[in-house]
Amino acid sequence: MRVSDIQPVLLLGPGPSPVRERILKAMAHDTVGHLDPQFLTIMDEVNEGLRVLFGTRNRMTFPVSATGSAGMQASLVNVLEPGDTAIIGVNGVFGTRLAEMARRIGCEVVTVEAEWGRIIPPDDVIDAHKAHPDARVVALVHAETSTGVRQPLGEVGAALRGNATLFVVDAVTSLGGIPVDVDDNGIDVCYSGTQKCLGVPPGLAPITFSEKAMARIDSRTTPPQSWYLDVSLIAGYLGEERRYHHTAPINSVYALHEGLVIIEEEGLDACFRRHEEVGAALQNAMVERGFSLFAQEGHRLPQLTSVELPDGREEGPLRKALLEDHHIEVGGGLGPGKGKMWRIGLMGAGANHRSVERLLAAVDAVLPTG
Ligand SMILES: *Cc1c(COP(=O)(O)O)cnc(C)c1O
Repeated sequence: MRVSDIQPVLLLGPGPSPVRERILKAMAHDTVGHLDPQFLTIMDEVNEGLRVLFGTRNRMTFPVSATGSAGMQASLVNVLEPGDTAIIGVNGVFGTRLAEMARRIGCEVVTVEAEWGRIIPPDDVIDAHKAHPDARVVALVHAETSTGVRQPLGEVGAALRGNATLFVVDAVTSLGGIPVDVDDNGIDVCYSGTQKCLGVPPGLAPITFSEKAMARIDSRTTPPQSWYLDVSLIAGYLGEERRYHHTAPINSVYALHEGLVIIEEEGLDACFRRHEEVGAALQNAMVERGFSLFAQEGHRLPQLTSVELPDGREEGPLRKALLEDHHIEVGGGLGPGKGKMWRIGLMGAGANHRSVERLLAAVDAVLPTG
């Protein structure tokens, strides 16, 4: 098989999302060196574009050279040291992953749990912090892609303000889809990924560190276990000095740059509105067809809809039919939703009414109702 033999698929799963032609073209542009002044200008513009998306003035804002999980790893490994306490909200796959990473760093992990499909009540997080006031971090997943839940951030961020504890937030599925507002929400470390609402191929993890987070990093007594993800070393490349650390993935950075230009052209608020409108349209249409929405009412993500199939139908064969007969990818359920749920992403370039219409026509074909 050759790559050119791959047939296109409409990507309406939990990521990756559809990539526009313009971005693929940018990615195919001539590779230059990672120290070439032209590339450094592109890199600086990417970092500035990311500040706008994150809603921050943080100096240390850049794309980590790997996927969203590397953003998660970079967040934790830079601010945590063995023996530190980490309070972590767990109500799905990605909270579970955060807790596992913190344990591997050698931290004392205090989980604050909620049933999958429900938010973690902010008061539960604040109470856990009162019980462990010396915790180094509190970490929450803003958009839990395994369940479709939108976690409120403001109360926790406000409670931690002026405190030594750092607020770490996973915005992999939220950045570009719903407001993240890093500075307004009192977030100290926030990371994302390119292949969800930014509509850029997977491979980079936008990340931002507040001055408070950078001060904590400066006061570490041991270096981070990861040399590759050490922000103090990466800072040497991003800053005036332009010191080589690792080779930036040039063409992936081109793609992210073009993705940010596209969002800027549309306008960030218009981009949020588009995600919100199509998400609501899909959710209504699925309910009309007898599907039930899994995520807690009032806390549903527009960009990721989790639905249980009607009449306890098994999801696997129908999802396979969507892919094979209709060339549409949706995600299967995870955890308690395994075997009976779909996770439908309307992210980035996939967040439009045409995607919804194509999906509904295919759903009606594989699962006739009435
Ligand atoms: C997709 C995702 C990740 C992991 O990102 P990868 O790019 O798959 O490494 C982390 N957190 C959340 C909430 C995600 O949706």
